[in-house]
Amino acid sequence: MNLILMGLPGAGKGTQADKINNKYDIPHISTGDMFRLAIKEGTALGKKAKEYMDQGELVPDEVTIGIVRERLSKDDCKNGFLLDGFPRTIAQAEALQELLTDLKASIDYVIHVDVPEENLVERLTGRRICPTCGTTYHVLYNPPKSEGVCDKDDTRLIQRDDDKAETVKKRLAVNIEQSKPLLDFYQDRGYLVAVNGDQEIDQVFRDIQTEIEN
Ligand SMILES: [Zn+2]
Repeated sequence: MNLILMGLPGAGKGTQADKINNKYDIPHISTGDMFRLAIKEGTALGKKAKEYMDQGELVPDEVTIGIVRERLSKDDCKNGFLLDGFPRTIAQAEALQELLTDLKASIDYVIHVDVPEENLVERLTGRRICPTCGTTYHVLYNPPKSEGVCDKDDTRLIQRDDDKAETVKKRLAVNIEQSKPLLDFYQDRGYLVAVNGDQEIDQVFRDIQTEIEN
């Protein structure tokens, strides 16, 4: 089964990816892991990608797509794969279609883990961290025993700048703008299945199973 997983930051994509990986025995391929592997293996494309990354530049599409091709050609993808974080643009999605045709494969489903934006803001801004021991909490999902204070060392918890509402909202807006055309692209081609991500983790996974097993 060849799958692509989509969802905004905080939607719980990583958790669902692990569950899909365990249940269907297909590798979870994130863009970051793919680059790290190519660089570690020292492939020609890995070396090229590293040059761009070392200079703090964006890796061009032709290099990225080459690395995707290398990764999807590996033995562990025989039963399928779960792509996460790729494609990010229409150009990449089109290149992926061509690449899969070359490999005599195709996408089965694009799973969109859908959570309303306001709930994501709540999820993403609730994180608190202890500056002394690094323990993380969440005001709703994993609160400390006494409000605003670390359980282990009584230090006052802080909110990182990245987790502040304004930053979170900006990050979400950028992501929504980027993913909208991709969702449309896959919707138009009949690949897209939307799953309500605003439920218990196990229920989200059951809904995913229902969608992809029917
Ligand atoms: Zn602490």
